[in-house]
Amino acid sequence: MRDGLYIGGRWEKPAAGGTFEVIDPATEQPIASVAAATAADVDRAVTAAAEALPAWKRTSGAERAKILRAIAEGIRARRDELAAIEVADNGKPLPEAKWDIDDTAGCFDFYAGLAEELDGRQEQPVAVGDPRFTSKVRREAVGVAGAIIPWNYPMLMAAWKVAPALAAGCTMVLKPSELTPLTALELGAIAGAAGLPAGVLNVVPGLGRDAGEPLTHHPRVDKLAFTGSLATGRRVMAAAAEDIKAVSLELGGKSPFLVFADSDVEAAVEWILFGIFWNQGQVCSATSRVLVERPLYDAVLERLVEESRKITIGGGLEEGVLLGPLVSRGQHEKVLGMIGEGVRDGAKVATGGRVPQRRDRGYFVEPTVLVDVPETSAAWREEIFGPVVCVKPFDGEAEGLRLANDSPYGLAAAVMSKDEERTERVARDLEAGIVWINCSQPTFSEAPWGGVKRSGIGRELGVWGLENYLTVKQVTRYASDEPWGWYIKG
Ligand code: NAP
Repeated sequence: MRDGLYIGGRWEKPAAGGTFEVIDPATEQPIASVAAATAADVDRAVTAAAEALPAWKRTSGAERAKILRAIAEGIRARRDELAAIEVADNGKPLPEAKWDIDDTAGCFDFYAGLAEELDGRQEQPVAVGDPRFTSKVRREAVGVAGAIIPWNYPMLMAAWKVAPALAAGCTMVLKPSELTPLTALELGAIAGAAGLPAGVLNVVPGLGRDAGEPLTHHPRVDKLAFTGSLATGRRVMAAAAEDIKAVSLELGGKSPFLVFADSDVEAAVEWILFGIFWNQGQVCSATSRVLVERPLYDAVLERLVEESRKITIGGGLEEGVLLGPLVSRGQHEKVLGMIGEGVRDGAKVATGGRVPQRRDRGYFVEPTVLVDVPETSAAWREEIFGPVVCVKPFDGEAEGLRLANDSPYGLAAAVMSKDEERTERVARDLEAGIVWINCSQPTFSEAPWGGVKRSGIGRELGVWGLENYLTVKQVTRYASDEPWGWYIKG
C-alpha cells in the first residue's frame, strides 16, 4: 500500500499527519490506512499541477498519446492485482472488477488516439466576413483540472477524467472517495512509471469536507470535474461560481426501463437483472424503475422474482458470486432504510428486502424487487443506489412515457420492444442523456455519457469527454496592407 499522497511525482506526508482506514465491505475489517489530505495538501497539489501546466500544455498530442498508452500498458500489466484491490476496497465480484480494469486501460488507449488526432485539428481556420482579416481557432487545454470521484467504480471513474484531461494537455488534482482510494493511488504510481512528468497528475485522498471542498474553492483550479450525488454536485457548482470555473457534473439517476408487451420475457428479465444487480445496483445509470406493459407484467414479474432468488451472494473473491456487499455500513443502512420507507408508503416486497441469512458480517442486501410502490414514495422517486428494483405495470405508450419521464433525473433510460419504429420514437421522447434499446447498461469509451435534468451538466467519454478539457481561442490577424484609418486618417 502507498505511504502518502501523490503530489509532484512523489509520495508526500500529509501536512496534518492524519490517516483514515479503508474497510473491506465483505468482512468489515480494515485493509489499509491511507494518508488523509487536508487544505494545505490540496494547495500543494494544485501548485504542483499549476507549475507542470505550461510544459505539459505545449507537448504535442503524439507525445501525450505515447504516455497515455504506456499508462494503459501499466494497468494491464497489473490487471489481476488491481482487480483484487478493487474487490477488497469496493466489494464488487472479481469478474466485474476485472471488467473495470480492462475498461480503465481501454479508456487510456482510446484517449491516446484522440490526443494524436488533436494534433491535426489543433488549429482550424474560421471564415470571417471581412477579406482584410484571417481568423482561426486554436484548441487549448483548459488548465488545471480538479477531479472528484465516487466509490462505485473507483479506478474507472478516475480514468474517465484523468485520460481525457491528460490527452487535452490539462494537469490534474484527483480526489478519490474516502471509501475507495486505493486504485487511484496506484494510478498515480503507474502514471509516474509510464513517464508522466511530475505534477501533471496528483492524487489526494481524503474526506469530502477536508480535501474535496478545498479543491472546489481553490482559485488556481480552472475546471472542476465532479461525479457523485446531486447534493454534493450542488455544492461543487456553487463553489465553481466563485471564480467562474468551468464545471462538469455527473450526478445521480432513477432510470426507467420500459418493457413493451411484444418483448421476449426471457430477454427482458435478463436485461432487467443486469440493469439493476450489476455492481450491487450501485450504478448511477441503474434501471431501477421497471415499467412493464400490462399484458406482460405478471410473466415478467414472476420470472424476475424467480431469477433474483437464484443470484449467488457472497464476498467478491468467492467462486460464482454475482452479488457482493454494498460499499459501506452507511450505504447498507441507507438502502435498508429506503426499502423500509417504501414498505411504509405501501410498497410490497416481491422478493428480498433483507440482509441474507448466514451473513452476519459484511454489508450484504438481498436482491430486492418492490411492487405497488406509490409514485410519491421516495423508493420510486429517489436514487436507492442498491440492489433494489421497483416494478410497475403501464397501459400503452403514452402512459409508459409519462411514468418514465416523471422524474427529476434524466441520466439513462431503456426500452424493449420488437417494433423498431416504436423503440426509435420512444428513444426520441425519453428525457435522458443515454437510451438503451433492447438492453440496459452497455457503455463504450467512444459514446457520450451524461445526463439531462438533475443528472448533470456536460458529457464524459468520446470526443465530448475531451472537449470537457479544451477551450477554443480565437486568433484573428489583420492581413491587409491598407492602414485601418479610423483615428489616423491617411
Ligand atoms: P458523494 O457523496 O456526492 O461523493 C462524491 C465525491 O465527492 C466523494 O469523493 C466525496 O468525498 C466528495 N465530496 C463529499 N462532499 C464534498 C464537498 N462538500 N465538496 C467536495 N467534494 C465532496 O457521492 P458518492 O456517494 O460517493 O457516489 C454515489 C453518487 O454518485 C450517486 O448519486 C451516483 O448516481 C453518482 N454517480 C454518478 C455517475 C455518473 O456518471 N452520472 C457515475 C457514478 C456515480 P467522500 O468520499 O470523502 O465523501
